[in-house]
Amino acid sequence: MNADNVRLGTEKVSHQQQELLQQANRGRGGRMFINAFEQITNDEDILSGEEQLHPDWLEVFDRLAETMPRYAPPRAVESFKEFFAALSKHDAALADLDPESLNTTFLLGAGASKPTPSNIPTVRELLPQLLERARRLDRDDLSRLADFCDERKIDNIEDLLTAAQLATFTSRNPTVLRLVNYLLYRNDPSERDLFAGEPWIGHRSFQQETPSAADLASVAFLQDTLQVLFGLLASTMLPARPNLAHQAIAAYATQHPTESTVITTNYDCCYDLALSEAKQPFSYGIDFVNVTKANAKSDLATLIKLHGSLNWYYCETCQEVQLVELKRMLQQYADDDAPYSVIGICKTCGGQRRGLLVPPYAMKFDVAPPLTPLLPRARHCFEESDLIVVLGFSFADADVYISRMISKSMHMKESQKLVIADPSGDVVARMRRKFRASIPNFDGSRIIKLQGDCAETIPSLLRGEFRREKKVKAKQGGKAEEGS
Ligand SMILES: [Zn+2]
Repeated sequence: MNADNVRLGTEKVSHQQQELLQQANRGRGGRMFINAFEQITNDEDILSGEEQLHPDWLEVFDRLAETMPRYAPPRAVESFKEFFAALSKHDAALADLDPESLNTTFLLGAGASKPTPSNIPTVRELLPQLLERARRLDRDDLSRLADFCDERKIDNIEDLLTAAQLATFTSRNPTVLRLVNYLLYRNDPSERDLFAGEPWIGHRSFQQETPSAADLASVAFLQDTLQVLFGLLASTMLPARPNLAHQAIAAYATQHPTESTVITTNYDCCYDLALSEAKQPFSYGIDFVNVTKANAKSDLATLIKLHGSLNWYYCETCQEVQLVELKRMLQQYADDDAPYSVIGICKTCGGQRRGLLVPPYAMKFDVAPPLTPLLPRARHCFEESDLIVVLGFSFADADVYISRMISKSMHMKESQKLVIADPSGDVVARMRRKFRASIPNFDGSRIIKLQGDCAETIPSLLRGEFRREKKVKAKQGGKAEEGS
């Protein structure tokens, strides 16, 4: 089925379609809807544009998208999704937005750094790629980690980093470890053997009061393995260049330095580079030990990197954060004059300075102290803005604290709008459902869909192309009426 010729409307809707829609609106889900979708997406008259498709079907589809896989085979679900996505690539409300006159906050997730020439793999693609490269390093521990992840279908690097963070945290807190042991394993002793023989999981400690030396060593071993993975991760991000979305937002920031903020969970430096290339000075909102506080300039753009950045280093001992000059660091790496340091030496105390990068789950319980002031800043920016533009961010469970900040801000400020740029359009439907559940009387149209490649859609939005298009169409419509 091809939705290219389908026309939305209420004037030419067959009796049969009306009836199906009424059934769908009355029903509670399940198999019946699948039949209805099958009928309307295969109807010759609807596909040819002879008969119109009632726009309420989009609403019905949104409502059911999540439960659909329970009732229909994956291939059918995919084809329904495609059909409905093609019908409404962008919401009409986009044409009423004027980013020029709005205080805008941008939220960038991993997907924002995917379009070329940034080419950074998304979270899902990252771990399999890193493990493949890890195997090539021919290190026994890495190969075993790769096998472990392969066999258990662990393909999300954030899960792995979170597990490492948890292991490190619990190994340092014997009371927490005892409690975790009790809470997770009291009723199911067989679980104890689940991870038997895996050197990176301190399974023996589940049967003991405190972790043994062997367990602490296995955690240290995991940390060491992860340093290598971090190195590989950095090597995919260091050569990354800003794409058209980064550049468009940076250009927007030069026009509205104080009324636009970028908040990101990305470690990469694509947007940082785009700002420097646009000659827009900016602040990270972090106190760096090696940067003297300049007199508060009024025209600084703000870039909040919630999970850290490739060019920030942190010493756990003295808790100081060092900013490494980005362009020099990248140039030295590109010219092979100096390696990128995964671990460095702290000038203040002689301890170790490591990259200040944290996995999302870590934010909740073991966040690096220098990053904590970024959270209230981000919340403030969301709450101050008229418009929040989200790109490449999937609102995953790991980042639930960000969804909550946005939900609270949308609740408090009824005029606030949320544009979600997403290649598939799925995220919009999910967030509408979520906010309808959490915000009383939430109007779903406050979330606006911008579907497609963000390197194309974001520049169009910020250049006001959707507004212009609407004006042109209105003019053409006016002329046509005059002529008739
Ligand atoms: Zn130090």
